[in-house]
Parts: sequence; structure tokens; C-alpha cells
Amino acid sequence: MAPRTETFRTQSPGETAKLAQHLLATCKNSRIFAIFGDLGAGKTLLVQALCEALGVTDTVKSPTFSIVNEYHYPEGKVYHFDFYRIKNVEEAFDLGYEEYFDSGDYCFIEWPEMIEILLPEEYTEIRIEVEGENERKLTLTTDT
Ligand code: ADP
Ligand code: MG
Repeated sequence: MAPRTETFRTQSPGETAKLAQHLLATCKNSRIFAIFGDLGAGKTLLVQALCEALGVTDTVKSPTFSIVNEYHYPEGKVYHFDFYRIKNVEEAFDLGYEEYFDSGDYCFIEWPEMIEILLPEEYTEIRIEVEGENERKLTLTTDT
């Protein structure tokens, strides 16, 4: 199937919550979300909003001492990756990334460019661009 692309704009951090609900609905068969964007673009905020929309009650924040955090929601698990500090793809292998990606659970990935070669054939890409202090442009590309 040809990928489909959609563009969204938010005018404030608060608008991310509503967008997250829409993203989950419009990509309801997607489980792997690669979230691209510079530091401060809003990747973590988007993961927080996606988790909240799923019903995660755990605290959602970027993993600091590890690469992946695990959260729970009523229907299963969510894995939140941040590959910012990874030095090479070996570290991703050591982490056992494949088991996570193949689990069928939600995987939200910050800094996916660090492990781009390891991404599965099908995943949903979200690119966040800063357009102003509080404005963000989000470009979704998905096969699902
Ligand atoms: P990243 O994980 O990409 O480094 P964060 O999510 O940690 O970025 O931080 C994004 C910052 O940008 C937050 O301080 C947030 O309040 C701010 N921000 C301002 N406007 C927006 C917006 N429209 N969408 C997302 N974040 C925004
Ligand atoms: Mg972050």
C-alpha cells in the first residue's frame, strides 16, 4: 500500500493532547512510531500525550539511565525509547530491541535516526518541526 502523509499544526503544547488522540485513531493498526525532531521539538511531549490517550497512568518521561521505559495501559504495554545517547547500533542489539519491536506492543521512539537501519519494514513516522515558540508542524507518514 502506498504510504499516506498528513500534516498537522499545533499552536500550543496543550493542543498535543487532542492531536495524540487523533493520531492513534488514524493509525489504529500502527504500533511502531518513529518520532523525529530536534531537541525541544516536542517528541517527549507527544509521547506523553500518546500515552495519556492510551490510558497510561505511569509517569512518562524520557529514559535517562536506560534507553527504554516500560509503561502499562489497560490493554497492554508501551515501550518508550530514547536513542539520543546511543553510541552505536550494537547497543540496540544488546538491549534486545527486536523483541520490543516484534512484541506487538506500542513502541514510541525518540531519536529514531540513531537506529534508522534497525527500524522494521513498516512503521509510522512523525516529524516535528518548530515553527515558532509555541507552534509545531507535525508530518505523519504511515503505511497503515
Ligand atoms: P524533545 O523531546 O523533542 O526534546 P520536549 O517534548 O521535551 O522536546 O519539549 C518540547 C518543549 O516545547 C516543551 O517545553 C513544550 O512545552 C514546548 N512547546 C511549545 N509549544 C509546543 C507545541 N505546540 N507542541 C509541543 N511542544 C511545545
Ligand atoms: Mg525528548
